[in-house]
Amino acid sequence: MKVVKAGPKPSKEAGMIESPIYMGINAVGMVKEMSEEIDWDSLTFSLTPTDTMYLTETTADDPWMPGSLRPYGPIQMSPAAGVLNYGQGLFEGMKAYRTAKGRVVFFRPEENARRMQRGADRLKMPPVPESVFVDAVEQCVKANLRWLPPTGKGAMYVRPLLMGSGPILGVAPAPSYTFLVYVTPVGPYFKGGVSAIDLLISEEHHRAAPGGSGGVKAIGNYAPGMMPSKKAKAAGYAEVIYLDAETHSYVEEVGAANFFCVKDGVLYTPELTGTILPGITRNSIIQLARHNGIEVVETKVEATFAMTADEAFCCGTAAVISPIGTITKGDDKATFGDGKPGRITQQLYSQLVGIQNEDEEDIFGWLHEVPL
Ligand SMILES: *Cc1c(COP(=O)(O)O)cnc(C)c1O
Repeated sequence: MKVVKAGPKPSKEAGMIESPIYMGINAVGMVKEMSEEIDWDSLTFSLTPTDTMYLTETTADDPWMPGSLRPYGPIQMSPAAGVLNYGQGLFEGMKAYRTAKGRVVFFRPEENARRMQRGADRLKMPPVPESVFVDAVEQCVKANLRWLPPTGKGAMYVRPLLMGSGPILGVAPAPSYTFLVYVTPVGPYFKGGVSAIDLLISEEHHRAAPGGSGGVKAIGNYAPGMMPSKKAKAAGYAEVIYLDAETHSYVEEVGAANFFCVKDGVLYTPELTGTILPGITRNSIIQLARHNGIEVVETKVEATFAMTADEAFCCGTAAVISPIGTITKGDDKATFGDGKPGRITQQLYSQLVGIQNEDEEDIFGWLHEVPL
């Protein structure tokens, strides 16, 4: 970890670990540096361990109860835990921002809560009530406030996890469940300005199949994408584009981000067929574009059509919007613009980031203030 400059300063605040290896790497490889001086400018999108995490547990039949904060660190789990053996788990990803008005806000956290509930339903886990979810992410941000980057220097990435943590041998839902939230400060995704990325259409692999779990943030959806992604990166691409598994002709997603393209002033994005993850950024962009008077079409987007578009971009919580510079499919290569984001891409990006930072008015009521 490179973001911490100063030496150890054991704190007596609640939830802090008092350990002789405060400044080193402990037995499980976690860095436990404590400092008041964080080098915000060197933050990237990577894990910086923080002070405190949130955890609550329940059985398959009992209601969820509000959990508690505890020091950030390893958790104990049975080797037979459902999540370890059969992947019964979900994750979420969201950000808290310190805004230009000095407030600490989440961007549409209720949407993350609802998406996790839909995922829980699909993976046969007890859904976490929205009130418990929102309280958990609020508590976690509050408890780690010193790790929240200043306005414009990044955000606090919040990672809720829901998993079958109880032991089970047969393939069946686990007897008990853990809902856990941890946070980590992340830098702005694009340092030194937004740059367009080069993408490769995967001819061999698909991300999700009809009737499967592609429409929820099931942890098991992600490992199969690592090999294709690594291969594409080794060949000089930023990420792969997945086409639909049925016909191999329609664009589904870009790695773990949603896809948009602009042609003749109309914004196109793949419709939610169940194999596409319903991104909250995706939904926000659709609303923003319509508010701007741009026609938005949710439809099946043929790869051949996308490659004739005027602008293309992908989106998600981590990068907000990444303009696409080129798309390669076999021997064909489509180039969009001149390496700079297109006009509509740029406009949507500035508006969305403007709302998140409170440089622009929150006309849709998307911000949720964290009470401090
Ligand atoms: C999380 C995710 C997205 C983006 O969703 P946001 O809510 O915008 O962060 C898109 N695709 C996949 C596969 C994802 O897991």
